[in-house]
Amino acid sequence: MQIAQDVVVAIHYTLTDDKGEVLDSSSGADPLAYIHGSGGIISGLEEALLGKVAGDKLKVAIPAEKAYGAHEPGLIQQVPKRAFQGAGEIKAGMRFTAQTEHGPRQVVVTRVAGDMVTIDGNHPLAGQDLNFDVEIIEVRAATAEELEHGHVHGAGGHHH
Ligand code: ZN
Repeated sequence: MQIAQDVVVAIHYTLTDDKGEVLDSSSGADPLAYIHGSGGIISGLEEALLGKVAGDKLKVAIPAEKAYGAHEPGLIQQVPKRAFQGAGEIKAGMRFTAQTEHGPRQVVVTRVAGDMVTIDGNHPLAGQDLNFDVEIIEVRAATAEELEHGHVHGAGGHHH
């Protein structure tokens, strides 16, 4: 069976940056399972996997714009410390979900100076070209329930 819209795909992957440093890997865990075409993985990787079959191995270089997007300076903001009331002491590296005009967004504190806190709403991998080493473990039809839920059930997916 070939990878196509709405099929369930399970892959093992290793993600490296342009310097060859490993950023993430499914090694030692369940393969990553997703429904093809549902937006579950980055678009550049979906494009590369289309038409492939179980057992295929591939290396894919994905430019930032087809990965997690450009790093947007506009997503870096200065907010007063009092906006974090109840969160305890604010330190660089802390993560929060901030309410923004575009809905809830994950932000990380990058700097605390006096009463001002700098937060960055960019994805940690924004602006980075990524390299994936992928092995396709399984390709199968999605169940009606999986398509309805928009995610994979079982190994590498949701258990409920
Ligand atoms: Zn479900």
